[in-house]
Amino acid sequence: RPKLIGLTGGIGSGKTTVARIIEDNGFPVYFSDIRAKNLVNENEFLREEIKGFLGEKAYDENGKYDTKYVSAKVFADSQLLEKLNNAIHPAVKLDFENWRSLQTAPMIFKETALLFELGIDKECDASLLVTAEDNMRIKRVMDRDGKTYREVENILEKQMPEKDKIKKADYVIYNNMTLENLQEATEEVLNKILKEMVS
Ligand code: ATP
Repeated sequence: RPKLIGLTGGIGSGKTTVARIIEDNGFPVYFSDIRAKNLVNENEFLREEIKGFLGEKAYDENGKYDTKYVSAKVFADSQLLEKLNNAIHPAVKLDFENWRSLQTAPMIFKETALLFELGIDKECDASLLVTAEDNMRIKRVMDRDGKTYREVENILEKQMPEKDKIKKADYVIYNNMTLENLQEATEEVLNKILKEMVS
């Protein structure tokens, strides 16, 4: 069975960019958050379950998951949010296990924003954190999403502190320089993980 590496990082850290570099190097990446968004549409069982506690309106007239409606509903009701997470989580887990069983590479990656927060790191053989200085992360997200400094800072403050994540991670990429530097650093870490974890 391939070694499984959990890949994570806070907002604007560069984890998606790192995931793309990993794929370019021939190692498969499972994108948990993107898959979750697909599954609420694709998975019939999940669809019915969500309608059960959020109502028919959770899906629009075309049958598409209505993110805006659902976000507003669960934002106002933490019990509904918990129900939603409890429905989506097992569906993603099953989908991941299915994907995993099809992989033949020596190591594979699971990208998720909440690796440590949800304890998913314990289901992995090792964890890889992408981190960068707060100011850089904020600037990058402002440029990418057109948000204000304060808006991004607000999101950042709600996430697990970087120093706690650095302590928990087996491997860390510091993304404080150029994109070329990030590519080099990622390839270096890939070699290190291969050497240490796959033999
Ligand atoms: P989020 O969790 O918010 O989706 P992320 O951790 O996946 O963020 P990315 O989307 O990879 O982060 O990077 C955030 C933005 O910063 C992107 O627009 C990306 O192109 C840019 N970026 C990442 N690293 C660098 C770098 N070293 N130099 C310049 N721009 C960078």
